[in-house]
Amino acid sequence: MMIVGPAAFVDEARIWHRLEQLAEFGATPGGGVNRQALSEQDARARLQLAAWAKDLGLSTRSDPAGNIFLVLEGSDPDALPILTGSHIDSQPTGGRFDGAYGVVAGLEAVQAVLEAGQQPRHTIEVVAWMNEEGSRFAPGMMGSAAFAGARGLNDILAVQDDKGISVKTALGSMPGFPEYPLRRSIFAYLEAHIEQGPILEREGLTVGIVTGIQGKHTYRVTVEGEEAHAGTALEAERKDALFAAIDLVQELRHALHDPEDRVRFTIGAFTVRPNAPSVVPSSVVFSIDLRHPEQEVLVACGAKIEELCQERPGPCRIVLEELSRAASLSFPQAMQDRISAAADALGIPSMRLASSAGHDARYLHQIAETGMIFVPCRDGVSHREDEWASPAALADGAKVLADVLYGLALGHPA
Ligand SMILES: [Zn+2]
Repeated sequence: MMIVGPAAFVDEARIWHRLEQLAEFGATPGGGVNRQALSEQDARARLQLAAWAKDLGLSTRSDPAGNIFLVLEGSDPDALPILTGSHIDSQPTGGRFDGAYGVVAGLEAVQAVLEAGQQPRHTIEVVAWMNEEGSRFAPGMMGSAAFAGARGLNDILAVQDDKGISVKTALGSMPGFPEYPLRRSIFAYLEAHIEQGPILEREGLTVGIVTGIQGKHTYRVTVEGEEAHAGTALEAERKDALFAAIDLVQELRHALHDPEDRVRFTIGAFTVRPNAPSVVPSSVVFSIDLRHPEQEVLVACGAKIEELCQERPGPCRIVLEELSRAASLSFPQAMQDRISAAADALGIPSMRLASSAGHDARYLHQIAETGMIFVPCRDGVSHREDEWASPAALADGAKVLADVLYGLALGHPA
């Protein structure tokens, strides 16, 4: 007997229709979505997810961090659950695919598993993580960070939006579901997402196997000199903060030049004080945004920056402050191989690529075997109202997701 995998039951039109339905909650005139975390629009979208779950015979649960789960019970109560999903909150001028696709694809995969007719051993849960975007309550990825134990619950509940409304208060206006405890052990996590970059489209592919998530360090550099008269102060006596900053920037640029073009080194903000034509600059403040997909290289580049900012010759003082540090991570090879094998078996050409943007999978990676599947989006555009992805590509991603999920949930080895 030939076993038909769930991918055969993935329905392109159903995915598209559900994305259209979700996009109505917070629809903007420009065709995008404004559905910020824990808003009324978010509440309505949550109710829609629960309604879809009910139609499929799934139960809906939530946890104290406001994450919600659509649950298909497995046959083995001792087998840890497998989670798949993403987020349904958006930027204020967001698109209809970022996040929403991962949740809809997860639901489609579960529906396909049901239609394939074999009960999985592991429970499968479609999750929508609370506040991935961080546009109303900063920083983002709150729900997944709390779930993985990377941030404390009270820490998150106390965060306020610009009107002084706390996460705790806003959570109170979300629809209630039977509660799960916050931190649970899980077997694996899979997240489907639009790429938010141009690579898959350029390569003409519909599926990307995500190798990892690029890390990022941010810094603020302050160069302190001394204000002086442009006509009278002698060069030998000047403490010109701008000239010192320019020398430093040049050295940093050369030191971080990467012949392979994988280091991302950006000075995007640069402020000169007092910024007057006849005054020797007294101070310069500039930003550094540093990224690289490999953690070792990222750390080495960070160390290079620290080294060059220390013990500099010349009359000015340099102060380097590290503002944030997120590590680069690699998803387990076995999970990447599973996804790759599923795509191959379906005859869907794919490639491996790193994620340049952050995702909830960053935190799930800390507690379980995690993988991500990308689908292309038009011109690589995201966080914009005109974000777009083709129905066929969205379906291909869901097919691969469904088969990988199914293999994991049945307990099949890779
Ligand atoms: Zn997203």
